[in-house]
Amino acid sequence: MSATLQDIISHAKEYGFVFPSSEIYDGLQAVYDYGQNGVELKNNLKQVWWKAMTQLHDNIVGVDAAIFMHPLTWKASGHVDGFNDPMIDNKDSKKRYRADQLLEGKAEEYAAAGQQDKADALLQKMGELLSAEKLDEVRDLIIAEGITCPISKTSNWTEVRQFNLMFSTQVGSVAEDSSLIYLRPETAQGIFVNFLNVQKSGRMKVPFGIAQIGKAFRNEIVARQFTFRMREFEQMEMQFFVRPGSEMEWYEKWKETRMRFHKAIGLPAEKLKYHDHEKLAHYANAAVDIEFEFPFGFREIEGIHSRTDFDLRNHQELSKKKLQYFDPDLGEDGKAIGNYIPYVIETSVGADRMFLAAFCNAYTVETGEKERTYLKLHPALSPIKAAVLPLVKKDGLAEKAQEIAASLRLHFRTVYDEGGAIGKRYTRQDLIGTPFCIAVDYETMENNTVTIRHRDSMEQERVPIDQLKEKIGYAVDF
Ligand code: ATP
Repeated sequence: MSATLQDIISHAKEYGFVFPSSEIYDGLQAVYDYGQNGVELKNNLKQVWWKAMTQLHDNIVGVDAAIFMHPLTWKASGHVDGFNDPMIDNKDSKKRYRADQLLEGKAEEYAAAGQQDKADALLQKMGELLSAEKLDEVRDLIIAEGITCPISKTSNWTEVRQFNLMFSTQVGSVAEDSSLIYLRPETAQGIFVNFLNVQKSGRMKVPFGIAQIGKAFRNEIVARQFTFRMREFEQMEMQFFVRPGSEMEWYEKWKETRMRFHKAIGLPAEKLKYHDHEKLAHYANAAVDIEFEFPFGFREIEGIHSRTDFDLRNHQELSKKKLQYFDPDLGEDGKAIGNYIPYVIETSVGADRMFLAAFCNAYTVETGEKERTYLKLHPALSPIKAAVLPLVKKDGLAEKAQEIAASLRLHFRTVYDEGGAIGKRYTRQDLIGTPFCIAVDYETMENNTVTIRHRDSMEQERVPIDQLKEKIGYAVDF
């Protein structure tokens, strides 16, 4: 039985993973808070990404740039003029929609009805019209396709308008034009503006990369599908600076490396695929998405983009500061290669989308003789690694279990639980994805061994206490 998005949302809330933001005031659309287990899972995801992208590469280092940046940053990046979604309103329901999503929905309907050709033709047409900014014709297409508002059921549409997705605010107390700044819509630009700082202070040689994890903000018009599309979210991005001309080689390399990562954290190969972009963004000469099969279909979790020298060149132009690298190597002609603006391969993944992918994939309901729900998370991602459970509280078992928990806690997140029947306690841990439950029984008091109960197989094995740290520590490491 496959889970619905509603099952996922309910489980996430009931077991302390994700809550609607400001819920006591009925929430805020497309903004979410992570609870006690969610924050652990998300931190673990960020840690494994950071390790995979920095620690394991001698030539990739990290930064943590500010959310606020000089307003010209967003002029240079193209976000002021081009970071728009086409939006259309239904005059009867007064509801607002993304024009491209209405058409994509129609294409999905065609595809579901076996009319793949029609679906492809519609998407192609839409791509052409949007690239050419022919917004009136996008509206005509919506009407011609008979697309109606899901609420009013009418096709009484307004014109299509471009809507900039950046949030803005004022710096200081005076509301002047010059004090208008944006909340960053992507973390990448904090890396680009620091490119030379890092290169020089770290004596980095091209090819090298800069990684960053941080919040980004987008005023998404249509926010749905839980944490898939949020207005405040976190990105994990890496910009890899290469010699012009070598970018396609690195693009292919990163495409494969990033796919391997998603498999390594436990996402199954059959739920992952590449999706090449038919329509390239203004800054890219090649782009691919890694898609994951969510309960609502295959959707992007990560983008790998060959961004050329677009960003660095524009920053150089607007800041009037040279953003060039001196390459001391010799070229094929035997002469020094000298100065150039590097090309960039970007890998960009949303921490929240990856969280949702890992969570959806882990959510398992076993039917049969005894129904069981558990989170089959990669142990490195599990919020809690081990739970120590005394069989009974008396005869010194509770104290012994507490002692074991205290010693394991120094190495990985461990909880102690003595409340209720042992079966109930196993269930509690299953529901939040704890990979190992350690039961302390009368035999423990005799020979210093415990049983480890494995979450997925429910098998139990007897292990000496002094081997727990190594055995579990090894399994939960990434
Ligand atoms: P989409 O087409 O879904 O809007 P995008 O192509 O605009 O995404 P990018 O700008 O390439 O996305 O951002 C890189 C990654 O950041 C995405 O793959 C996704 O994981 C994450 N991301 C982007 N927008 C959001 C959002 N509103 N909420 C959560 N994660 C997001």
